[in-house]
Amino acid sequence: MPPTSPRMAIAIAGAGIGGLTAALCLARGGHEVTLYERAPALREIGAGLQITPNGAAVLEVLGLGPALDAAAIRARAVCPTDGHSGRAIARFALDGEAHPYRFMHRAALVALLAEAAQAQGVRLVTGRRVTGADPAAGRLDFADHESITADLIVAADGLRSALRPLVADEGPRFTGQVAWRAMLHGVVAEPEARIWMLPKRHVVTYPLPGGRLNLVAVREQPDWAPEGWDHADDPARLRAVFEDAASELRGLLDRVEEVRLWGLFRHPVPGRWHDGRLVLLGDAAHPTLPFLAQGANLAIEDGWVLAQALSQELGTALGRYTAARAPRVRRAIAAAQANARNYHLSGPARRIAHAGLGAIGRLAPARFTARMAWLHAHDVTREMPATMAGDGQDC
Ligand SMILES: Cc1cc2nc3c(=O)[nH]c(=O)nc-3n(C[C@H](O)[C@H](O)[C@H](O)COP(=O)(O)OP(=O)(O)OC[C@H]3O[C@@H](n4cnc5c(N)ncnc54)[C@H](O)[C@@H]3O)c2cc1C
Repeated sequence: MPPTSPRMAIAIAGAGIGGLTAALCLARGGHEVTLYERAPALREIGAGLQITPNGAAVLEVLGLGPALDAAAIRARAVCPTDGHSGRAIARFALDGEAHPYRFMHRAALVALLAEAAQAQGVRLVTGRRVTGADPAAGRLDFADHESITADLIVAADGLRSALRPLVADEGPRFTGQVAWRAMLHGVVAEPEARIWMLPKRHVVTYPLPGGRLNLVAVREQPDWAPEGWDHADDPARLRAVFEDAASELRGLLDRVEEVRLWGLFRHPVPGRWHDGRLVLLGDAAHPTLPFLAQGANLAIEDGWVLAQALSQELGTALGRYTAARAPRVRRAIAAAQANARNYHLSGPARRIAHAGLGAIGRLAPARFTARMAWLHAHDVTREMPATMAGDGQDC
């Protein structure tokens, strides 16, 4: 592989949170970046997002702190709650972090990333579905049978990436869990994430700006056989699954008017994330279960690290990017899976776990922050400081 030129032509497939962050970081590094998005316009599902301090560290270095504050709610605590009684088991403060923990609408984050990327010179092409690539030649193919070439192709096209099979052969597998997502309006709620835990099920609620409440409900279910991987569902089905829940939670579920059901899928994190001029990023490389609120945060970190790694020869740079990212995302994925087990306990194991959590909450609440420090206090912008021309600007 020849050495990288100081300014590369980079094509990114997918303008989700990962693709947009990567585009912004790479354009700030002086590269010529084009984003290809299959949707006719940038739009996001009506859902919330928890941007944890590790993701915020990157967005703030990119100059987006004030815009985030304007579009988000600063989270104060996370409250594991007994989903049967409605009793808060513990309350772990989130406000002592180096970067704020925020709740925001996905569409708001996409809009502010898109604006910043375009202001940095990124070209955004919508209505362009990627169908394949030639990693050695740096060729990207589209559904309309046209192709372009680039010095580097970034596959940021999500869980069902069209490009991932060129690098890794295992596709997504159903995890035995489904998630409903809903948004309630006109709700006054504390700036806290509540995790309502029930046997084989849980619900996470947190507020969003504008008096909205984001709700994600998860249940274990052995099979998933639908037409797509998400679809509209009847709110009555959601209510039936949680009919034995605390009255406060049932009251919230009674207010759900529209709900979408998602099968939760994962695929193994590949050993290699790149081949020739093609590299994977975000969910295309490492989808994670939503039980640690990390999929988007890890994709944001990926974008930063990739841009900094590219100060070296391409093959070395992509190897360095993978080496920096793979252990961290594997650890996060394992932690998300452990949360799934802990949230869904039943019988004596549930009683013992809740008693232990309650004791930590009363006697040593700082242990929660300490236990999450590897995840939330990790700052990739310090680990890999800006190295390229544009990234020095306002760091
Ligand atoms: C219920 C639920 C709750 C979640 N909550 C959180 C949370 O609170 N915090 C968090 O960090 N993460 C959360 N996540 C995870 C997060 O949503 C994903 O990890 C994140 O969106 C991944 O970003 P991405 O850019 O890699 O992929 P995506 O967001 O999937 O974006 C991929 C983009 O590529 C486009 N695309 C796809 N195929 C093609 C193609 N062939 N050609 C061109 N474009 C294409 C898509 O249209 C899309 O715009 C949650 C996930 C779920 C299911």
